[in-house]
Amino acid sequence: SKIGIDAGGTLIKVAYTENESAGYRSFRSRDMDEAAAWIENDFDHPSICITGGKSKVLASKLHTSAMTVVEFDATMKGIDFLAHEQERTLGDGYLFVNVGTGTSIHYVIDGRQERVGGSGIGGGTLLGLAYLLTGMRDYDTIVQTAGDGDRGQVDLKVRDIFEGALPPISGDLTASNFGKTEMMPGRTPANADILASLIGLIGEVVVTVSTNMAAHNNADAIVYIGSSLRSNPLLQETIETYTKLAGKTPIFLDNGAYSGAVGALLSL
Ligand code: ADP
Repeated sequence: SKIGIDAGGTLIKVAYTENESAGYRSFRSRDMDEAAAWIENDFDHPSICITGGKSKVLASKLHTSAMTVVEFDATMKGIDFLAHEQERTLGDGYLFVNVGTGTSIHYVIDGRQERVGGSGIGGGTLLGLAYLLTGMRDYDTIVQTAGDGDRGQVDLKVRDIFEGALPPISGDLTASNFGKTEMMPGRTPANADILASLIGLIGEVVVTVSTNMAAHNNADAIVYIGSSLRSNPLLQETIETYTKLAGKTPIFLDNGAYSGAVGALLSL
């Protein structure tokens, strides 16, 4: 069997092939011992390749010796593989944006990637601010609660400013994230509304930075990956809508969160 692992700041992503079957699994990085035990016990003489910031720590916990590879190259390889498998054409010169704990932006051309930018706004921001604003800590609870939220209670839209007058840009655009301050004293928005706005803020920042980098590099397609998109349709929708508004083509791959792990596996 072959095992590719992307050991990130928040999650350890594992892609594996055994006989004819293949699968994916993830663990919290803080449960690294559990991940290591599963790898040691469930596979028979596996070849292992690890990438990601925590690859050295994880490798030291394994009895089986493991290869390590550079994360960004592994991610590119994994994206290429998943795109082919899912019959998605990325074209020549595309951007990939990894919305992980933080966000990293890469330009791919001629089979090589270059890191062209990034932002500290990412999945960690969602978890941290969600906790500070609502006290919620569980990722799935946060994301599900946000699904019922109304951003209109928290964010100021352009049309809120241009009362009665015709705005020079779409009234539907966000004028100010979390900016509906006049309503707030005395009528604190519900947790669902706050979390929906938080996801909106993260999505809009990620898109603004990414589409600017796409314009700068003359790229059309932007592949968004990373576990922050997982089970989070609200973030995905925000990113999709705003990327299209900016005239770029958003692409989401099934199992995109496992791109680095797949690339590591393919390096074996
Ligand atoms: P990294 O490689 O930096 O660990 P990931 O691509 O794995 O980054 O994304 C981590 C983010 O994914 C978290 O910050 C969180 O927003 C989101 N996430 C998705 N599923 C979970 C989960 N089960 N537990 C915690 N965070 C999760």
